Amino acid sequence: MSGQKTYDVAVVGAGVFGAWAAWHLAKRGKRVVLIEAYGPGHSRASSGGESRIIRMGYGGDELYTRWSQRSLVQWKEFFAGIKQPLFVETGVLWMAGKNDTRLKETAATLKRCGISFEEYDRATLEKKYPQIGLEEIQKGIFEPHSGVLMARGAVAAVVEDAIRLGVEYRCAQVVDPREAGAVKHVTTMQGERIAAGQFVFACGAWLGKAFPDVLGARIFPSRQEVFFFGIPAGESRFAAPALPTWLFQEDLVYGMPDIESRGLKIAFDEHGERVDPDTQSRIVSPEMTKAVREYVAHRFPALRDAPIVETRVCQYENTSSGDFLIDRHPEMENVWFAGGGSGHGFKHGPAVGEYLAAQLLDGAKPEPRFSLDTKESVQKRAVY
Ligand SMILES: Cc1cc2nc3c(=O)[nH]c(=O)nc-3n(C[C@H](O)[C@H](O)[C@H](O)COP(=O)(O)OP(=O)(O)OC[C@H]3O[C@@H](n4cnc5c(N)ncnc54)[C@H](O)[C@@H]3O)c2cc1C
Repeated sequence: MSGQKTYDVAVVGAGVFGAWAAWHLAKRGKRVVLIEAYGPGHSRASSGGESRIIRMGYGGDELYTRWSQRSLVQWKEFFAGIKQPLFVETGVLWMAGKNDTRLKETAATLKRCGISFEEYDRATLEKKYPQIGLEEIQKGIFEPHSGVLMARGAVAAVVEDAIRLGVEYRCAQVVDPREAGAVKHVTTMQGERIAAGQFVFACGAWLGKAFPDVLGARIFPSRQEVFFFGIPAGESRFAAPALPTWLFQEDLVYGMPDIESRGLKIAFDEHGERVDPDTQSRIVSPEMTKAVREYVAHRFPALRDAPIVETRVCQYENTSSGDFLIDRHPEMENVWFAGGGSGHGFKHGPAVGEYLAAQLLDGAKPEPRFSLDTKESVQKRAVY
């Protein structure tokens, strides 16, 4: 039984956070075991969709802009090394109506961070994007070098490379440890004992279920529905570069051009109802289908009667503010939480893994915004 072997670190959860944590720890020469209940980037995980946006714009929030910038470099280096084109440089277009405060803040932050972008007025938007219904929209910011990560494939690739670096991968469900002080081992539902010096629980929306006392009221899994609309035959206006990835914050809506011939992707970023990630229905609701159809008719008139060709239902793993949770368990001194991606975490996987490795191995100075103390039991979303 492998319970005799002691790893330096056991990482629980092979979503984007756990996969990159294991990868970075292995790169630094640590003996790592990565334990995952269902499989890397599986259909119930938050990392399990086909595609995720990587954008630099975060309004005035320089922390996440810099993390995104750092992560894009790492994603690109990683994909170049494995020769898999899992990043699509579609460009990212931010649009704003009357309230352009966030656009202005984004522009100032991007400038400060040395990230290239273009600013468009209404006339330029009309000329460049005749396929978008621009009603209410006055201005835009375009990030030419941002785009889309092929999420599920990317997580699988990071895990595969982590295994190449020496990480041991197990398909098993970990039972949360109960003892205070230093935890010596975890057990799995399959009856195995896994001993390690440190433990990282990167369990996404399951964090609240794994640690009900500490996190049950601090992680808010919300139901999120995603739609793909079939584009007309022979049509190229809905693929990049004609149409970039786009966000219209005032409506809390975002979408992507046609990638892998799946059609136009569109979703509402507003938090849906609270759900259980193991059991929630993965079938889209009639209400959301109607709302999204109406939105598409308004914003992309040529797709008014387009068929819905694919759907997905996922969950965000929100914290009260939207800031990540990367901190130690308050009573188990060698147990760490890594989660709270809150609908924007995927792109940051590489930076999260790097940060965790520095916390665990170097005792690096922690970022106060990621602390458990700042996570409340009432939601006040501040990060978008
Ligand atoms: C619809 C949707 C759209 C999004 N869009 C974007 C976007 O455009 N850009 C962006 O950057 N982010 C986006 N996000 C957010 C991002 O996808 C998530 O923040 C990120 O994927 C979270 O990764 P994670 O590793 O923390 O969690 P997960 O991917 O959920 O991984 C957690 C893993 O832990 C495993 N696990 C849990 N408990 C146990 C246990 N006891 N034993 C073993 N394994 C366990 C689970 O099986 C799971 O695989 C989006 C999310 C959703 C749902």
